[in-house]
Amino acid sequence: NTELSKEWLQDYVDSWINFYKKQTVDGEVATYIPILAEADQHALGISIIGKNGVTIKSGDTEEKFTIQSISKVLTFISACMDRGLSYVLNRVDVEPTGEAFNSIMHLEMKQPKKPFNPLVNSGAITVSSLLSGKTSDQKLDSLFVLMEKMIGYRPQVNVDAYESERDTSMRNRSIGYYLLEGGYLESDLGITLETYFKQCSIEITTSDLAKIGLVLSNDGRDPNTEEEIIPRSVARLVKALMLTCGMYDASGKFAAYVGIPAKSGVSGGIVAVVPPRVRDEELPFLDGCGIGVFGPALDLQGNSIGGIKLLRHIANQWDLSLF
Ligand code: GLU
Repeated sequence: NTELSKEWLQDYVDSWINFYKKQTVDGEVATYIPILAEADQHALGISIIGKNGVTIKSGDTEEKFTIQSISKVLTFISACMDRGLSYVLNRVDVEPTGEAFNSIMHLEMKQPKKPFNPLVNSGAITVSSLLSGKTSDQKLDSLFVLMEKMIGYRPQVNVDAYESERDTSMRNRSIGYYLLEGGYLESDLGITLETYFKQCSIEITTSDLAKIGLVLSNDGRDPNTEEEIIPRSVARLVKALMLTCGMYDASGKFAAYVGIPAKSGVSGGIVAVVPPRVRDEELPFLDGCGIGVFGPALDLQGNSIGGIKLLRHIANQWDLSLF
């Protein structure tokens, strides 16, 4: 009985949200972008949307927050759809770094001859330069079109968050100069960084993230109409990147202990992708789902501390790991 099992799942998720909310005291909200410091440290929310339409929402799911690093997944998809997969992969590699997301160290290294992957800042800024258009708004148009297909509305840039990041991001400017020196950028540095800061400042909710996760779980197709939103080859590559590089320098641990593709951002968001599995059990989410999490208190690697614990718990209980 779907209604009964939905009720059971809702109670289950509610009780674990309440449990892990208490553990947000062990984390800290990001402060290096001043506006992020205003977030509620104790907020924690999750949305899970299954391919069969079952939806569970629990905790702080109404809040809007900025997408931050999760945008890197979407600009990479846009650039691949715009310029072709091989064109983009000629300019950015698909190797994990083991370094912090905003590390500058590997730009000094001789190998590989291009940024390590599109989910660290150097790779993401390179990808922003590949988006077509002269102005940052033109460049972001293909991203907004893609997002609208995935979440059902055209999201907006939070101007205060954009200005807060733009006015403080010395590190990203430094990375930008390295990229410029190395000849990686295809558009003017100022426009490229403006594009990057704006894409990070797009406002979304946990349900939006769950919908994005669900489209990826469905290999890039709309879960209702089965229409192609993202070519399968791109969706597959993105999931591999998320699994190997999506959770900063804790990506290995997340793959080992949770075992599903995911991407986090410094505002405390996480998008996770549960691919369909053939199982005996009657758990509705096993035919594929997307999960969106919001919990601004971060652990030392910059991932939502409550979010990681909650995902680990749910993935273990429901046996969601790919492995
Ligand atoms: N806007 C952030 C930055 O580049 C995004 C970082 C993140 O979410 O990891 O500094």
